[in-house]
Amino acid sequence: MIFKYGLPSPLQLLNCAPKKFQWKRTVQIAIYKYWKEAIISSGKSYASLRHLNIDAYNPGKFHHLLDINTTNDPTRETTRLAIKLKLVTGTYILQNKRFRYTENETPICKLCDHGDETLCHFLLDCQILEPIRRKYFHQIDEILQLISEENFTTLSSHDKIQIILDCSLHYPGLKGNSENIVKLDAICRQMSYALHIARYRSLDIKRK
Ligand SMILES: [Zn+2]
Repeated sequence: MIFKYGLPSPLQLLNCAPKKFQWKRTVQIAIYKYWKEAIISSGKSYASLRHLNIDAYNPGKFHHLLDINTTNDPTRETTRLAIKLKLVTGTYILQNKRFRYTENETPICKLCDHGDETLCHFLLDCQILEPIRRKYFHQIDEILQLISEENFTTLSSHDKIQIILDCSLHYPGLKGNSENIVKLDAICRQMSYALHIARYRSLDIKRK
């Protein structure tokens, strides 16, 4: 354990034994540092986590995407959060993934039958979901005016997706717990959930 976490050697400790509290603190800092580096390094090797700000990970603290205590109804937000986390970790199953594992499926979007149902199509392009999206894009734009010179509607698809999934990676100069980032996270979480519900309802209607 001493070698794994880069702690002082047993000989050093015998010659100059630290106080109990000091030793506990040294061990905790060393373990946090080791796992922070290991998790960040491992996380960056997964292409599916490219939209997640892994550098914001801090052992013992919430990642800002998980912080829903500032909302009025944390219980309801938990349901929304589950969808957001699937989207940001690449585990939300859209048609472009489903068809790879299921016979007689195609990658084409079943809502509009127009183009592959990719993450970009679902979040930005599918015309069936446009009425939902429009309402939230307007709110996102209002917050962007407060934190940057950017206009959401004129950004590239890549930047829009990044802001929707984890805006802290698009605005690295802003802290994850700053007021506007928290607000932006909340709106994007609500939009992701609203798109998810509209998608499932539409698929259900089509199946019947
Ligand atoms: Zn579509």
